[in-house]
Amino acid sequence: MATEDRSTQQPPASTEDRGRPAASAVKDRRWRTAAVRVGLTAGMIAAVIESLLNKSELLARISAWLWVEALCFSLITHVVFGLIVCAAACLVGAATGRLIRPLADRLRPAPLALAGLLVGEAVMAGWGIALVAGADLPGGSAGLACAVAIWLVALVPVGWICLRLGRGILGRGLGPLSRVAAWPAAALLLVAIGVRWFGRPQVQSADGFWTPEASSQPVRSSHDRPPDVVLIVADALRADRLGCYGYHRPTSPHIDAFAADAVVYEQVISPGAWTIPAHASIFTGLYPSQHGARFGLQRLWLDDGFVTLAEALRDRGYQTLALSNNPIVSPATNLTQGFQRFAEPGDFGRSAGSNHLAFFRHVLSKVRFLGPSLARWFFDDAGGHTTTAYVARWLRDRDRSRPVFLFINYMETHDPYEPPRAYRRQFVQASDVNRSYGIDQSSTTVWQYALAGKPVYTPRDVKILSDLYDGRVRELDDHFADLIAVLRAELDLDRTVLVLTSDHGENLGERGLFGHQFCIYNTLVHVPLIVRWPAALRPQRVDRLVQTCDLFPTLLAWSRAQARQTAKVMARSLTAEPPTSTQSEGRYAYAEYLFWPASPLETLARLDPAFDPSRWQVAYRAVFHDRWKLILASGGRFELYDLRSDPTEARNLVASHQPTVASLAGQVGRWLGSFKRFDPSQVTVPEDRHLDDEQRQRLRDLGYVGS
Ligand SMILES: [Zn+2]
Repeated sequence: MATEDRSTQQPPASTEDRGRPAASAVKDRRWRTAAVRVGLTAGMIAAVIESLLNKSELLARISAWLWVEALCFSLITHVVFGLIVCAAACLVGAATGRLIRPLADRLRPAPLALAGLLVGEAVMAGWGIALVAGADLPGGSAGLACAVAIWLVALVPVGWICLRLGRGILGRGLGPLSRVAAWPAAALLLVAIGVRWFGRPQVQSADGFWTPEASSQPVRSSHDRPPDVVLIVADALRADRLGCYGYHRPTSPHIDAFAADAVVYEQVISPGAWTIPAHASIFTGLYPSQHGARFGLQRLWLDDGFVTLAEALRDRGYQTLALSNNPIVSPATNLTQGFQRFAEPGDFGRSAGSNHLAFFRHVLSKVRFLGPSLARWFFDDAGGHTTTAYVARWLRDRDRSRPVFLFINYMETHDPYEPPRAYRRQFVQASDVNRSYGIDQSSTTVWQYALAGKPVYTPRDVKILSDLYDGRVRELDDHFADLIAVLRAELDLDRTVLVLTSDHGENLGERGLFGHQFCIYNTLVHVPLIVRWPAALRPQRVDRLVQTCDLFPTLLAWSRAQARQTAKVMARSLTAEPPTSTQSEGRYAYAEYLFWPASPLETLARLDPAFDPSRWQVAYRAVFHDRWKLILASGGRFELYDLRSDPTEARNLVASHQPTVASLAGQVGRWLGSFKRFDPSQVTVPEDRHLDDEQRQRLRDLGYVGS
């Protein structure tokens, strides 16, 4: 009965094949046809299932086009992957039939191809899930060899089951289904490739983006209504990498055009050197010593007792929305107090094919030759693209009788620096573009270079990383232009307070450092601040010292909101002093780096017992006044720099300028004595607060938590 069935369904297998020479069995058309048909069909089904399982419902609610893009991405990855694994399974099947003749009759292409795909999907998904759970899996070629070995081993039992089922319902259904569905699947694949190709990120021209005339309608006189407020924080954006702050490369044509019609603050010091304290200072007007948002997973938290900008504006009647692409600017850290709505657009963007992406980034992108060619298809939206769509949707749906407070955190300029190809081509030397995909930017590798002094990067790699950062700035600049287009359509920009700043800068190889930890140099604390509000400000450049925490009293005053902060606010409104006040009369600015992350040091010590972490277990404070910057390290060490003649802080003048050191150190002492410091024992982190696996993985990717 079974023999009869086989002979009627697949005459070549039972009659001609057995007599054929071995080589022709491999070339058997049946195997090829099955591989292609099943690969296309099952890949398409996998893509549809994934799209249904993932956050596609949310994506569709934001924008139908985003949903189509995500589906196309899913289709390409699953169908191409399906074709590869089905072909591999058929090769294995054909080769087995050749080697073990008695089995040749029993091995049938379609069920085996399906088994290959099922096992492949499971290996990739399992790999992604294990990575998210923190498993230490091999990457690169070793990882690929491992994955292939697992796939081969698992193919035997799963293939056997599929072959058994193949004689029954699976066999009767799969063949006809794949014959019918393969053509539409192939057509869909072509459409998906077309959509991704034509929709791929392109470097936009800044022509006509912003002309002061275009936005010079008279300001409406509705005095009762406070202005709409849009606060944009580009995470880890260095001031000196923007054209309007003197950078020589064309990283920011749109931001520059906007800045020419706005107030550009040239000397802006962030009170914190990294994300959480810096955002907390912007939101509360307080210094890190006062708000105490600091390191340690349990202490990545802004205490509920403080009044935030969003709370004050919400109470003033604003509709408040936070869009954060950084997982630690979120309810998980309580930085989003006062925002009535909160979303992580980057999260939606990543959802399509996330397990594939995790596997790809960990394994395939590090395989030489394979990586660079595949990587261009797997560019990862850091959230900017989805953010624009989200803002458009939210503004369309808003209550137009009330003002809006919109806060956006962009992650394009945060590590890892993985701009789409178009931006790489603009900023990375042509001969290095392919190499740029293969540089390992995992946090452990970066720490090994920066903290342990391991030569994991060549000087050429360091240059490429810096160029990639420039590419990311340019990408951010395009997202900024897209955002402005949406804001212009929905808001009256002349009645809108528009602020562009960053929480901190980034080390890009200076002093061998990368990222934004373990120091308090100006690479980290000198940030951009560009403010536009035609109702009250005329475009100009302001060179007196200001701080990002000044945004708290400034935006409260402009929106005529009241806030009784629970600690002493030493920040000053940006318009409280004339922009021309001379430097010597000017203020003191302070920056603090009070806690360092323990996990990188622990990871490095685990990898190399000889590693000495004590060099990095240092807290810093810095005071800025006039031309001077004094750094006070926790061990009692001082560094003094004359920023006017030495902006890169290359010459420590402590030995030759003792009176200045004493005067500035005395000032820091008086400053510390003038307010109540945050008492960590008072912190009220809720007991049930926890980070989910995905958040932990994101924190690990960003280097905040050890691997
Ligand atoms: Zn940050």
